[in-house]
Amino acid sequence: MTGPAGAALDYAARGWPVLPLWWPEKGRCACEKPDCQHPGKHPLGKLAPAGRNSATTAPETIRRWWGRCPQASIGIVTGLESGLLVMDVDPRNGGHPNRLPGNLPITASVTTGGGGWHFYLAHPGNGFRFPKALPGCEGVDLKAAGGYVLAPPSLHISGQRYAWQIPHHSTPLAPCPEWLLELAKCPEHRPPSTIPAVDTGGLGSAYGRAALRGELTRLAQTIEGGRNNALNRAAYCLGRLVAAGHLDEECVVNLLLPVGANIGLGEREVRATVQSGLRAGLEGGHV
Ligand SMILES: [Zn+2]
Repeated sequence: MTGPAGAALDYAARGWPVLPLWWPEKGRCACEKPDCQHPGKHPLGKLAPAGRNSATTAPETIRRWWGRCPQASIGIVTGLESGLLVMDVDPRNGGHPNRLPGNLPITASVTTGGGGWHFYLAHPGNGFRFPKALPGCEGVDLKAAGGYVLAPPSLHISGQRYAWQIPHHSTPLAPCPEWLLELAKCPEHRPPSTIPAVDTGGLGSAYGRAALRGELTRLAQTIEGGRNNALNRAAYCLGRLVAAGHLDEECVVNLLLPVGANIGLGEREVRATVQSGLRAGLEGGHV
């Protein structure tokens, strides 16, 4: 499947819940409301009646949605559900990647149809709450809890499409830089106490081991309700790193299984999720 449907399935395969959105048509929103405030950017209510809460990673639902509305734009949910923090830099409001308060690591990124950028970062997990806008920095929004972003190949009202600048398949998501984490520390933040020991027996690259530690830490912090999805996402990301030669597959499986069990999932569910997530990651996420 290609086009929006294929892309939506692809995002879902790596554990990013998606929802269908209205799309721009002839310079206006296809919802046809004369006073539409967010043309081509708001949930398609007839398919996703709960809006953002209707977002899913279930392929059959996604196929049905885009089967009924092939041109629907794609929203990817940000926050703990997807493990994504997206930095939205909009030059029309004065934002520019060169004028951030700190360095931005190389990570998956999108050029928005409006001339801006979306930088996809790994959400640091429970205990961090990001402000909606970057303080003291015009034109930079942070999309995390409660948010979603328009994803490629959605069409922008300008007539341009959202497009991957650095594709999410080829570059692992960078962790959130320190200067950004500082903005998001909650008073009640406490470091997780159940970080698993990561012993790869010397297998894999330093980069792979650091990413593995990050994935296992995030997974260990997962809240009830999102555990299976979080495990699938971790397995997917680690599968990508195995495919790139940064990690050893057996070692990843041996470390993922106990963490999955620790967060309260059943043994059979853990094994099945780890296997399917890893497989999708190894194959590049195409479903
Ligand atoms: Zn509209």
